[in-house]
Amino acid sequence: MRILVLSDIHANLSAFESVLESAQDDWDIIWCLGDVIGYGPDPNECVSLLRQNEHMSLSGNHDWAVLEKLDLKTFNEDARAAIQWTQSMLTEDNCSYLKDLPSIAIAEPFTLAHASPRQPVWEYVLDRTTAAENFQEFSTPYCLVGHSHVPMIFEQLNQHEVEWYAPMYERQVSLNDNRLIINPGSVGQPRDYDPRAAYGLLDLDDMTWEHRRVAYPVEKTQSRMTDHGLPERLISRLEYGL
Ligand code: ZN
Repeated sequence: MRILVLSDIHANLSAFESVLESAQDDWDIIWCLGDVIGYGPDPNECVSLLRQNEHMSLSGNHDWAVLEKLDLKTFNEDARAAIQWTQSMLTEDNCSYLKDLPSIAIAEPFTLAHASPRQPVWEYVLDRTTAAENFQEFSTPYCLVGHSHVPMIFEQLNQHEVEWYAPMYERQVSLNDNRLIINPGSVGQPRDYDPRAAYGLLDLDDMTWEHRRVAYPVEKTQSRMTDHGLPERLISRLEYGL
């Protein structure tokens, strides 16, 4: 079984389509780690495209906010404006689909969490201390997280020590060793100074993980955001990947 691991699509249809095109037939099912909507100009199109494919999905903090499961005050002004615009656009059918999604799930030998196993909707796992604490919070060998929009891998060397690795693109990493927390990065709003869409491929037969990047027509997403009057800062950040 080969899995296309996506996170933080954030209503960026051009990025999502480019990922599907670039991954071609290299996968059997999508695992989506949440935040399908929020920020971008195509919430319904992204939810529909996800639903058209064989998949399993979590929900993230932006999905929750659109569904009014989180207080909008916890978001900054730009994110809040995008969430409110998304609320006005999202169809009832897509709303009820998103409402039923969990924010953490187990698919042996993986735990899947939008943000972290300790706080599935909120916590950013960006440093070794936070990662070390989170290794205590799940029992499977591996964990997939999104939320930070930064692709990376944490490896548990022992009870107290954790190592951190930047992604090695197009290279398969063997999973038959220490426990790992893996972040595929963000499809629709990367924040590691690389504007290309990020995703991952997991091969459960060979037990390998691969980080991937693909360029997409950023200007197409930006002009749709301009058409809908979405905040300028959210539009410009896409070309810098931050
Ligand atoms: Zn996100």
